[in-house]
Amino acid sequence: MALDIVSISPMNQNKLFKSTRVRLALWYAIVMGLILTLCGFGVYKAVSHARWVALDQELKSVAGTLHDSIELKLQQPGRLEPIIAQLLPNICAVGDKCIQLQSNSQHHILSAISTGYYYVRFFDNSGRLIATAGCHPEGLPPVLNKTPWQTLKDSKGNIYHQISIILHTQDNRSWGYIQVGRSLEEFSHYLDTVKLILGLGLPMAMSMVAVASWWLARLAMQPIYQSYKQIQQFTADAAHELRTPLAATQATVESALLMPQLDEPEAREILQTLHRQNQRLTTLVTDLLLLARLDRQPLPIRQECCLDEIINDLIEEFEAMAFSVCVTLTSSIHAPQPFNIVGDSEQLYRLISNLIINAIQYTPSLGKVTVFLERSEYYAVIKVQDTGIGIPQMEFSQIFERFYRVNSDRSRSTGGSGLGLAISQAIVRAHQGNLNVQSELGKGSTFTIRLPLDATSCNSVRSISL
Ligand code: ADP
Repeated sequence: MALDIVSISPMNQNKLFKSTRVRLALWYAIVMGLILTLCGFGVYKAVSHARWVALDQELKSVAGTLHDSIELKLQQPGRLEPIIAQLLPNICAVGDKCIQLQSNSQHHILSAISTGYYYVRFFDNSGRLIATAGCHPEGLPPVLNKTPWQTLKDSKGNIYHQISIILHTQDNRSWGYIQVGRSLEEFSHYLDTVKLILGLGLPMAMSMVAVASWWLARLAMQPIYQSYKQIQQFTADAAHELRTPLAATQATVESALLMPQLDEPEAREILQTLHRQNQRLTTLVTDLLLLARLDRQPLPIRQECCLDEIINDLIEEFEAMAFSVCVTLTSSIHAPQPFNIVGDSEQLYRLISNLIINAIQYTPSLGKVTVFLERSEYYAVIKVQDTGIGIPQMEFSQIFERFYRVNSDRSRSTGGSGLGLAISQAIVRAHQGNLNVQSELGKGSTFTIRLPLDATSCNSVRSISL
């Protein structure tokens, strides 16, 4: 029972995804089925054509050899010399008894004639059937058709293919016609076998296609399903985060309404609580909007940004905050100044400030936070290093996820929503850079941002501003 529950994949549990998967698999199967059927038809046509061509060539070569050999012996138009009976098996003059002088096949010019499929007919110039040889079918109409290639039926419905060639006597007078034909029985057996193979192979291939389609549909749906789950999770997390300040606001207002009278300090305190919650809501909504904008339009406004200036401003801005929790905040700039890169200065400001705020918040008093700025060959490297509580290694990738917090209680007490690093990551990606973390529990963390120098764009911006 427990196994059953485990084996049902979450994708199957969702009706929409299940029906989409069924539809997708069905379409795959139909399209693949059509392609396979067309291929099968093509193969059948190609094989039958190749066989037909081979058959024609064989018939032509047999007829050609017979014609050449017999023509040498013909003396009078419409008269078959007895010697011809030695060349052909079962030769019968029409109306007479068969002249079967030699039935030993080694004396016949072509052993193909005695295979049971071939027949030979002779017609005089007036179109009268003179003689037949080989395996001549009885029900074949004794009519001369002068077109070289013909396919005809006997009275039993058997099909034959034949070639008619004009014959001349030794002194080059027109003698009449020789017709060499063969039964198409073997050919239709061959085609029946091909049809049977294709007929059996196609359903087998179709069932394999159906299984493959079902599997492929699952594979195709997987990323969509993942992103659907992420959106679901994000919506649930966002709703949860929005509910907290809303609930606090509602509780504050309700308790104020229950009070018969409000004196000024009480009213002020209530207003301050409302203001705080309102600010929290505003920050949250602004963060969500920023993330949505970064998702929608990953390319930031491209302008010249002076990194050392941004860092100095931020140090100045957060010095007081760090001081209030007894943390030393300093910067160490080892780069040519001014150090410009191309990007969106507002977003870069937000990126570095997120990391500085986290570093201050997660560093106990008497700790140190240092912001480094260096220049490598291709990157501007910004490091925010702290001597704080550190992050467990297994959480390294998760901390960049939206709403993720290592320790929810602690993060909430700092006012964090778990969006800070997700925003930072999105900004870094929008600038084609990368952000990673190194940390040791209890010793501190270092967040490293690498932003491409993008010299060409920098020059172009400069030349535009000139
Ligand atoms: P929050 O708004 O909760 O700080 P962030 O996305 O900025 O959310 O950070 C996610 C989590 O990563 C935080 O909850 C915190 O646990 C951890 N974190 C971030 N920066 C640091 C740091 N410098 N030191 C220790 N933990 C950190």
